[in-house]
Amino acid sequence: MTEPGFRQKLRAELETPLEHRPFGSGWLSGMLAFLLAVGCLVLSLCRAFPGVFIMPQLRPVFEHQWFSAGLMAAMLAAFALALVSLALRPSRILGLTAIGLTLIAGLIGQFIGVNTNPDGIFFGLDFFVLNVILTGLLFVPLERLSPLKREQRLFRPEWREDLFYYFVSSMMVQVLTFLAMAPSNLVVAETGWQQFRAFVFALPLAVQVVAIMFFTDLIQYWLHRAFHRVPALWRFHAVHHSAKSMDWIAGARMHFLEIIVLRGVTALPMFTLGFDPAAIQIYLLIVYFYSAFIHANIGWNLRAVEPLVATPRFHHWHHGEEREAIDVNFAIHFPLFDRLFGTHHMPEGRWPKAYGIGGHPVPNGYWKQFLYPFQR
Ligand SMILES: [Zn+2]
Ligand SMILES: [Zn+2]
Repeated sequence: MTEPGFRQKLRAELETPLEHRPFGSGWLSGMLAFLLAVGCLVLSLCRAFPGVFIMPQLRPVFEHQWFSAGLMAAMLAAFALALVSLALRPSRILGLTAIGLTLIAGLIGQFIGVNTNPDGIFFGLDFFVLNVILTGLLFVPLERLSPLKREQRLFRPEWREDLFYYFVSSMMVQVLTFLAMAPSNLVVAETGWQQFRAFVFALPLAVQVVAIMFFTDLIQYWLHRAFHRVPALWRFHAVHHSAKSMDWIAGARMHFLEIIVLRGVTALPMFTLGFDPAAIQIYLLIVYFYSAFIHANIGWNLRAVEPLVATPRFHHWHHGEEREAIDVNFAIHFPLFDRLFGTHHMPEGRWPKAYGIGGHPVPNGYWKQFLYPFQR
């Protein structure tokens, strides 16, 4: 007998008899997500090709800004419901189909014509969609081609939790930027080093980008070390270290408060020293892909660059479960800082045996991990 195909499986799920889908089984959320996703896809298509799908009398409705906002809210709801269903239901076909359809709807909105981003702080779904697709397109094949054949599938344990972390931080990108920039704005308003700022602004762009990487990493190094050293801070940072599998998506696992503190403090040199906004944009792009890179399950021999820049092996040692991996390799870009401050650890040709924290004290799941640092 052959495996039932996608259509048969989807149909069987849709036709699940009432007694096999009690409340809490993830069927209702999956079903709602699926219906919403189909609706969003149809409406996105209509809006993208109004000449084909919409009667002229109805076009103003589709062009209204509230329509965009509503459509984004519906996509968000479809996404959230699909995640609920994936968390509850052993069969993933409804949840995954809904996510797939929502992503397509989001991409149509992203690339075809209409601006889907009204002035609001929560409408970052298109950003999330692009993030996941672009990073995934880059890193999934890279991890496949890599010589490090760690027994790990793409959908390894806890992938849904980490995807949800990804989702939250992408969705909240505007809120985060706003919160994180507040201290820098204060410093700029309070100080008057205009000449110095003009000098920095005039430097070549590449020099500015490297300078930003250098200063943010120096600050990040000590902040990261404090997050390991101070017990109250460690409870927040432990969430990041609770990942038992390392891949491009594992780095997204970070407590919301830690993201704000980290972004806020590293934003200080970035926004106060007078760098060109273009250099800051380039840096933000680099740091985004770099963080996926150093967490990725990529086992290439990068010994030639290991003394200069952080590699997956360098940061994997930071996540190792064994004793020798505790409190080492705090830098994100430049191992130089770990050498200078005595925390560098790169045993010749070896990788950590396992990842996570000994005893695994951090509970599983986004909300449990969100509350974890606040509990005694
Ligand atoms: Zn750490
Ligand atoms: Zn990490």
